[in-house]
Amino acid sequence: MDAGDSSICEVIDCNHKMYFAINYETVGGTRMNRRKQKNGPLIVLLSVLIVVMLLLVAVCITMMQKKDASANEKNTTQETTPVQEEATPLQEATTEEETPVAASNGHTVCIDPGHGGYDRGSEALGYAEAAQAYKLGMLVQKELESRGYAVVMTRTDDNTKVTLDERVATCNNSAAEIMVSIHRNKYDGTEEVSGMEAWIGSSDPEDAHALAKNILDNLLATNTMRDRGIKTGTEGNAGTDYAINRECNVASVILELGFISNKSDNNYYEKNIDAYAKAIADGIDGYFSTYNVTQ
Ligand SMILES: [Zn+2]
Repeated sequence: MDAGDSSICEVIDCNHKMYFAINYETVGGTRMNRRKQKNGPLIVLLSVLIVVMLLLVAVCITMMQKKDASANEKNTTQETTPVQEEATPLQEATTEEETPVAASNGHTVCIDPGHGGYDRGSEALGYAEAAQAYKLGMLVQKELESRGYAVVMTRTDDNTKVTLDERVATCNNSAAEIMVSIHRNKYDGTEEVSGMEAWIGSSDPEDAHALAKNILDNLLATNTMRDRGIKTGTEGNAGTDYAINRECNVASVILELGFISNKSDNNYYEKNIDAYAKAIADGIDGYFSTYNVTQ
């Protein structure tokens, strides 16, 4: 409210006072004036009573509002609690260490189905990378175990979010001699981009290169997706590494099994998933038969 409004209010108030003054003199006259003088103490008493009652009402309202506010606070706390409780099992689940079946062929392998939980990875054409990586990861585990490998899994369900640090820790804290991370690619520009590729460290380590080549050659032998080759570093920066390749202490490879944004690659993936699991296991067999890895 500015100075102009204030002066208008003063004018209105002044007019009211003048109106009452005129009414009092013309209508009430001398009798009313005398009656008012007699009832004076009574009016004062009533006024005091009204003021006291109003104060009491005001105090009551204030107290009720305070009660409501504290009740709301309690409700808010109760509402947020389930969210925290939901988050807890995710964290706990990730720290669980799975005991792998003992290796009868002397080799331990870490298989990492990418993403999981609320991290669905790339999504396109009705598919989610996390679910597809998990499905193939489980098949690879089964295939490797049937061949006598001990298999360490970085996740054993599709409902749990596992961080990259936890995946690396699972690998490094186990007897795993190699790490194979399973992913699917995505290209946002066009659905035409397709094919499978393998990513290894920027220094192109010999053991990781051999592992990637063995696996990729066997995958390509299924005559499905086209070859995009073995790549070093990261997309757009050959001098940096993806966390799995940078942090794992053993030969590691990240497999990008076709583009989730490409219809043909998705069809190949869904129809040949068993063949891909066998091809990855064949590649791992090939790697161990050609490399003298500590047992
Ligand atoms: Zn991925």
